[in-house]
Amino acid sequence: MFIGIDDTDSRDKYCTTYIGTLLMEQLEKKYKMDIPKLIRMNPMVKYKTRGNGGVSLRVLGKNDGAPLSNRDIEYIKETVINLVEKYSDFECEGTNPGIVFLSEENYNKNKEILNNYYKKVLKDIVDINYTKEILDKVGAEYIIYKKGLGIIGALGSIASNPPFTYELLTYRKKEKWGTKRTIDSNSVVEMDKKTIPYTYNNVDGNKQIIAPNTKCPVLYGIRGTKKETLLEAMNMVNSEEIDKYRIYLTNQGTDIHLRNFKIKDIYANTGVRVYGEVSSNPKNIKNIVLFEIKDHTGTINCIAYEPTKSFRNIIRALKMGDLVAVYGTVRDSPFEINIEKIKIIKLAKQYIKDKKCECGGTLKSKGKGSGYKCNKCKKTIPYNDIKLIEIKRDVIEGFYEVPVSARRHLSKPLLLF
Ligand code: ATP
Repeated sequence: MFIGIDDTDSRDKYCTTYIGTLLMEQLEKKYKMDIPKLIRMNPMVKYKTRGNGGVSLRVLGKNDGAPLSNRDIEYIKETVINLVEKYSDFECEGTNPGIVFLSEENYNKNKEILNNYYKKVLKDIVDINYTKEILDKVGAEYIIYKKGLGIIGALGSIASNPPFTYELLTYRKKEKWGTKRTIDSNSVVEMDKKTIPYTYNNVDGNKQIIAPNTKCPVLYGIRGTKKETLLEAMNMVNSEEIDKYRIYLTNQGTDIHLRNFKIKDIYANTGVRVYGEVSSNPKNIKNIVLFEIKDHTGTINCIAYEPTKSFRNIIRALKMGDLVAVYGTVRDSPFEINIEKIKIIKLAKQYIKDKKCECGGTLKSKGKGSGYKCNKCKKTIPYNDIKLIEIKRDVIEGFYEVPVSARRHLSKPLLLF
């Protein structure tokens, strides 16, 4: 039996993963549970609280191996409903919880529909009525509170499939909720050194970034690709007392939100990977760096914002004619790609005119397109015979990403390629 939950928290209160963790604790007493999932969906959804994540659980059967009876199913549903009602911030206008229940039988019968739905919630903005149609089609039950938008992500989480990574989430003692978190940044830096590449996005420079900034019950989260390493990593972090922890299966760090696009097919609020040629030299507009790329179908602007910090220097060093692949999400207004990563495939060669004469003198232009004349030996060189010297570019071909603190949950760090 599958359970999906989403949109229970606000920036001031709670966290949907906390409900998932409490449910795991309670249900594990009677039932064999699969690893819970924390699935991120389209990061372009405007009404998300933080990272547009939905939680789902799967009850595999009773602990004694028996299948679930109708009484079990009723007990499970009641447990879920009670905890969602206890730990949802109903007062927050933007919090619209939703719960989805789906049987194993209906899941197995509808894998293709679910798979397509997962792709859609990752890449498009979905209307709740569309989700309701799919829920009816696959025979799922759902409960909506207020606008009930949470059912969109709740079903998305159930429907998710590989690639996956993991996140170990630790939670604070209740009396600490809302207070400043105590985490020794140095211990996180050490942990990072010892556990990469099996953990990622722990630090930005010397600053730990595993703790959220909101008042939620989460103390910190460590992301990675090996469950055992995550447990070791948790033991390396010095912090205030941990109340509980849980490892979630997640689609974070996978780039699953991106698709290859021809420029003419790009539309707003989706993730793209576009191959093209830089068609305008980068411009600095306040703290933003902007350039255009083209392919045989059209052109589009690409943008690096202030939080991407030194990544903007890479963008500033691009020149017209460079061949690149831009990874990012598309804003609607202005219509442009917000860059998450860039692969510089081939740098265009850049030249300057050689102004040195063989005699040691300096060649001076005789006017636009008219060739050069030496200021010493007075020799003239026709325009077409002026020698060109290749200049060294300020950037090298390679794959570049925004700093950890500016990275989206779904973005695959270069470390994992
Ligand atoms: P939480 O921790 O509560 O899940 P969050 O940052 O994940 O916080 P939500 O508060 O859940 O954000 O808000 C996101 C909302 O967007 C949810 O109601 C979810 O169901 C919905 N949603 C998810 N994916 C899509 C999508 N592709 N199109 C439209 N709505 C979506």
